[in-house]
Amino acid sequence: MEAMTFDILARSARSSARVGRLTTPHGSLGTPAFMPVGTRGSVKGLLPSLIAATGSQIVLANTYHLLLRPGSDLVSALGGLHRFMGWPGPILTDSGGYQAFSMADANQIDEDGVTFRSEVDGSNVRLTPEIATQVQNRLGADIIMAFDDCPPARDPEGGQDDGEYARRLRLAIERTRRWARRCVDAHERPAEQALFGIVQGGTDLVLREQSARDVCGLDLPGYAIGGVAVGEGPEQIQRVVVHTAALLPEDRPRYLMGVGYEADIVGAVLAGVDMFDCVLPTRNGRNATAFTAAGQIRLRNSRFRDDAGPIEAGCDCHACDPAAHAWATPGGVGGLGGGALSRAYIRHLFMAREMLGPILVSLHNVRYFQRLMLDIARTIREDDWLGLARRWPVVADVVRRRIGSGSDRHQPTGASDRSGQG
Ligand SMILES: [Zn+2]
Repeated sequence: MEAMTFDILARSARSSARVGRLTTPHGSLGTPAFMPVGTRGSVKGLLPSLIAATGSQIVLANTYHLLLRPGSDLVSALGGLHRFMGWPGPILTDSGGYQAFSMADANQIDEDGVTFRSEVDGSNVRLTPEIATQVQNRLGADIIMAFDDCPPARDPEGGQDDGEYARRLRLAIERTRRWARRCVDAHERPAEQALFGIVQGGTDLVLREQSARDVCGLDLPGYAIGGVAVGEGPEQIQRVVVHTAALLPEDRPRYLMGVGYEADIVGAVLAGVDMFDCVLPTRNGRNATAFTAAGQIRLRNSRFRDDAGPIEAGCDCHACDPAAHAWATPGGVGGLGGGALSRAYIRHLFMAREMLGPILVSLHNVRYFQRLMLDIARTIREDDWLGLARRWPVVADVVRRRIGSGSDRHQPTGASDRSGQG
């Protein structure tokens, strides 16, 4: 029995984009998929039923944070992460590596793993490939990630020269290869949890090729592109993603970790990426910044003081169109017949520090990303990318740059291709 199946349902003839369906023990999801981030077992401010109402079919939770608090033993004893957080659908957990390397101060890295100081109680915490895998086995997510060496982006301010950075990147891909093998060996629930490998290599395309060969050699159910969007610009992100996605097996889901803005997502979909996660919708939502197809708006701005319109006209989220959710609110929200909540009202909530403000804008933003993903899937089926660019001005540039040149049509590489396509 396999923990996961992945079926490709439609392909774009003008790019490497594809529509797929990923089936896990806790249900299936359509791809390309956007995963809202539930760092500590909660997508901040959103009840599970609201997460589902945004159209999200899978959520991500962070192993690093759940390991520190409340601990994987407790979550396991209470029936696993699905039951603990009240989300019955698919869950993906990261390995904790990214946070252990980037967030923890005083971390100490060696060949066996990383030691860092807990931000919760100051104690020393150890993460190795074996421990990261065991913690994820106990949390019980449907998709778990290999523990990788994720170096930060080059820091010229910090005195790091090119040679030093290149050596660090090379060490990272070699460690990532050795650690991925150890994760496979430590994985105790392969029939219930799909373990994804991670490709590293920074912005060095030769190292990306080496890392892809190493990790794909393990024949895993899915692969991720890691170490992207760690400080480099959008052009560098696209260059690395286009190159690396083409190195991954055609018949396995491809996951771009921690990305990103709408244009980054569309650019990666064109390169054949299937899965995304990002904190942007909820983080920006908490700060009163709303996504719209024409660009982000800051709802604290005084120009919205008496604006009676919704956050975004045409949006079907709870804030913009309560009538679309009338089943949940008999009589309409506020007894006003289900009219939109105004920008003026939401601005007021933020100015008055009411908790409903962050909730409503997070809800809108997550739904916004899910509407974009739905439209991307439709666009792949119809291969009408200029239509997508018209409906979503924020992605128009990347579509114009990439469609028509044919640069995104790649032939699957022979060694990794199992589908006979191309
Ligand atoms: Zn909305």
